[in-house]
Amino acid sequence: MNDCVFCEIASGFSNNSCDLPILTTPSFFVIAGRGQICSGYLIICSKDHKANMATGSGNKWAELSVLKSLLRILVAEIYVCEPWFFEHGDYSCDKTAGSCIKHAHIHMLPLPLNRLPQFMLKFELTSFIDGCSIESKNKLKSMAPYFYLELSDKRSFAVNAEGFPCQFGRQLAVREFGLEASWDWRNAKDSVEMENCIARYKWHLISIMPQLKTSFPTLDFYVNNHFELGSVANYTEKNEISK
Ligand SMILES: [Zn+2]
Ligand SMILES: [Zn+2]
Repeated sequence: MNDCVFCEIASGFSNNSCDLPILTTPSFFVIAGRGQICSGYLIICSKDHKANMATGSGNKWAELSVLKSLLRILVAEIYVCEPWFFEHGDYSCDKTAGSCIKHAHIHMLPLPLNRLPQFMLKFELTSFIDGCSIESKNKLKSMAPYFYLELSDKRSFAVNAEGFPCQFGRQLAVREFGLEASWDWRNAKDSVEMENCIARYKWHLISIMPQLKTSFPTLDFYVNNHFELGSVANYTEKNEISK
């Protein structure tokens, strides 16, 4: 077994309940982000150990796009806003793009972001009319190491990210929204926030499952029930920390 925390979770070997997936599809799983910079912060992970999302097949890219659409609906239901996404698309373990876990994953923040952060304007950006298209995937793949940003309104941008600092996207989010949390997830001691995040998503997923199954008939997904947080069964909105 390699020394990769996401591979450990994908294989079911993680013994930390906060790291276990909330939602699983054939090629991806969704977990609460360690270091909850904002309430409901999630990570979409590839089940395969690879450097970035754009190196996968066209079918996996399509599956990822549908999964992001599902998460958009879920976030609209819970947080009454559209989320935004970012990825540090590494080229390899040596040629990184600001990631600190060398395994393809996307960050999702349930906060409205409908314009490019000011800080991004100093870079030479490539914009995508449709970030979900295969053309966009191929372009991104050729740009690795890249930093990919998908705004709440779905407009997408990427920049060559060679030499970007560690956790660039989290630093960007903290700066853009003036968040109080540390950008460095390694400083986080937030298992309570993570448990709340997991419980909240699972509760809503189960609540609107028939609607989701109807809206996304091509996506084979399930909510993970192989662990009990206790709080899920008795979960109500009142238990949740404030947004
Ligand atoms: Zn891995
Ligand atoms: Zn990352």
